[in-house]
Amino acid sequence: MIEIKDKKDCCGCAACESICKQNCITMVSDTEGFLYPKVDKTICIDCNMCEKVCPVLAKKDRREPLQTFAAKNKDIETRRQSSSGGVFSLIASQVIEKGGKVYGAVFDENFDVCHSCIEKKDDLHLLRGSKYVQSNTQGIFPKVEKDLKDGKLVLFSGTPCHTAGLRTFLRKDYDNLILLDVVCHGVPSPKVWRLYLDKIRQGEKVTSVSFRDKAKGWNNSSITIKTTKRTISQIMYGNTYVKGFLKNLYLRPACHHCAFKGYKSLSDITLADFWGVEKEYKDFADRDGVSLVMINTLKGKECLDLSKVDSIETSLDFAVKNNSPIVSSVKPYETREYFFANIDKKPIDKLIEKSLARPWEDFKDKIKHYIVIVLRFLHIKKPLCL
Ligand SMILES: Cc1cc2nc3c(=O)[nH]c(=O)nc-3n(C[C@H](O)[C@H](O)[C@H](O)COP(=O)(O)OP(=O)(O)OC[C@H]3O[C@@H](n4cnc5c(N)ncnc54)[C@H](O)[C@@H]3O)c2cc1C
Repeated sequence: MIEIKDKKDCCGCAACESICKQNCITMVSDTEGFLYPKVDKTICIDCNMCEKVCPVLAKKDRREPLQTFAAKNKDIETRRQSSSGGVFSLIASQVIEKGGKVYGAVFDENFDVCHSCIEKKDDLHLLRGSKYVQSNTQGIFPKVEKDLKDGKLVLFSGTPCHTAGLRTFLRKDYDNLILLDVVCHGVPSPKVWRLYLDKIRQGEKVTSVSFRDKAKGWNNSSITIKTTKRTISQIMYGNTYVKGFLKNLYLRPACHHCAFKGYKSLSDITLADFWGVEKEYKDFADRDGVSLVMINTLKGKECLDLSKVDSIETSLDFAVKNNSPIVSSVKPYETREYFFANIDKKPIDKLIEKSLARPWEDFKDKIKHYIVIVLRFLHIKKPLCL
């Protein structure tokens, strides 16, 4: 039976809960706000199916991409509404055109994040865009399995632990399943997101959230939250919630030891932001965003219709050089423990800012920044220590 002794060993995909015929596993939120399986030992029959479908425990082969592309959806509006180059929407549209179903992360009516399924192009906007919160996949894998057994074409998208979790849950290959994952540097706690959203909406009803509003450009994305009365928009790096996310203050413990890094997500196609693309392809980069597309299987190759994207085939090494989360897990921020020890005691925005405050480190970063500007001005090569 599944027993989580160390939280780093559970990614929260809920494959164990879904497979249990005895219904003796429930996903329960811990004090940090992450879901973990709890087994009712009085009804467990020790069939061990929960362990067999756990993607963290499963043996995973490393499978390097067959091809790597920088790509931009030719439909500019779709690209503007997407987080990077809008390639997800393109692949999803094609699946829907063939009568298929698309699974991915959506906001529910309370703006919590969970997985859901759509069948119409008009609903694609629900899945579009990164939501920087762990998505709840409870009850989703059995629905995907049913669709597959009914012969439906299914595109399932999510983080690498989601795609790996679904794959181990299914225990067999389906020709009618396409697995698409996004490169993920880690997922923040749903509890932190809930506390933050409650704090800033000040009792008003939230009507929309965009974590990657590109009004000021892809490299300068904002988080924009609309309520019935106000629009709150802030550059990502200036927003308290996003800063905590990017500094790894409240990621799931398993994300710091991600079992799926280094091409182990079992997906057919992997998408990411193509950060640094301008270093090699100056004219290709633009303010509306560029996707990094990694084709992992022949099925994945069939999904990318090159006539619908502007694309350049590039090297995996170049892509990884500018996007380390493809291959390595991030370290937790040094005050993570302090943050979670105080999460129920202090207002969330103040707690995040206090946990991130490092006056001396910030001062050193500023000095380094100015030295780099002066060196650049004097045409002197930046030393490695800066
Ligand atoms: C938590 C998180 C961390 C990420 N970290 C990085 C990173 O470090 N480096 C990088 O290059 N890219 C990262 N990405 C991926 C990137 O932000 C884009 O999602 C990706 O490039 C696809 O962009 P798109 O324009 O093709 O499609 P979009 O329309 O922007 O993306 C939609 C896709 O994202 C999926 N998705 C959205 N939110 C979630 C969620 N919470 N959980 C699971 N799936 C979700 C949807 O199911 C759908 O498949 C991250 C994404 C998430 C959700």
